[in-house]
Amino acid sequence: SSDSTPIRATLFPGDGIGPEIAESVKQVFREAEVPIEWEEHYVGDQIDPRTQSFLTWESLESVRKNRVGLKGPMATPIGKGHRSLNLTLRKELNLYANVRPCYSLPGYKTRYDDVNLITIRENTEGEYSGLEHQVVRGVVESLKIITRQASLRVAEYAFHYAKTHGRERVSAIHKANIMQKTDGLFLKCCREVAEKYPDIKYEEVVIDNCCMMLVKNPALFDVLVMPNLYGDIISDLCAGLIGGLGLTPSCNIGEGGIALAEAVHGSAPDIAGKNLANPTALLLSSLTMLRHLELHDKADRIQNAILSTMSQGKFRTADLGGASSTSDYTMAICDHL
Ligand code: NAD
Repeated sequence: SSDSTPIRATLFPGDGIGPEIAESVKQVFREAEVPIEWEEHYVGDQIDPRTQSFLTWESLESVRKNRVGLKGPMATPIGKGHRSLNLTLRKELNLYANVRPCYSLPGYKTRYDDVNLITIRENTEGEYSGLEHQVVRGVVESLKIITRQASLRVAEYAFHYAKTHGRERVSAIHKANIMQKTDGLFLKCCREVAEKYPDIKYEEVVIDNCCMMLVKNPALFDVLVMPNLYGDIISDLCAGLIGGLGLTPSCNIGEGGIALAEAVHGSAPDIAGKNLANPTALLLSSLTMLRHLELHDKADRIQNAILSTMSQGKFRTADLGGASSTSDYTMAICDHL
């Protein structure tokens, strides 16, 4: 990754406000001279039989080939005979971990101004395996699947992340006192991996206690790793700590080192096409992609420009109580670069 040869990355602008906020990212990257060449793919209006979804085989191939990408929100069209877009991406690219950095943004006041943590969610199994059935009338059953393979893989990713990002501690979040077999196996795998990383502190925190600690004092945590359902809930709790949907980035990690960054929010049809959307979440997501590529200088530069624009407070989109358009706010960030 040098300045001479551009790195190719896949871009799914997505639906609704997606194209507007993707334009912001492209503009900021141009201005900061990020050596990325975008390969743009739109969701089709017909089902591709090879993927059984509105995502074409070619667009999936693009991510597999480039190994990095950025995804705007996608609205799955209603109708039968196709797979949801996000599910297709997760399955086809084997996106096994969802990483959400969560840090306080200066200038946007929330209850805490010292949040700086990372949640890492196992993304392929647990209660989300889709195995539910009726046993007899009035009794249903849902199977929670935990495998050694998926648990080791996400634990390994969490410790590797901690090590390469200068983090000190990994907390495994669980309920193994009740879910002895499933969460017990998850913890066993985390412990095994922890032994390979003696420099990183390792602790185990029961999920209910974790929730209490997070709302009382989020600064207690550093990197958190957890099974699917807990990750779904805790990562939204953490998003709430720093100001919500317009601000929270995420990145999906897939087999073979794929990184597909995405904003957590949806396509916001109520404000689409009006130049009102807040591009911060997608911009911060794009930085997780740059950091995955070890382009830390560029990521730092853009992050600082976003933070100074935010803390200056002159340009803000409507969701944060301001009156700026998407494009004016984007220009302000470019001016801070
Ligand atoms: P949403 O996140 O699109 O919108 C919720 C509210 O937040 C709306 O009022 C919206 O205007 C606002 N909002 C969201 N992002 C914003 C931004 N960047 N700037 C300013 N305001 C913002 O959630 P929804 O309305 O439940 O879903 C709309 C569509 O998005 C649905 O089709 C849903 O399936 C899809 N969706 C996709 C993803 C994804 O691709 N990862 C995630 C969630 C929802």
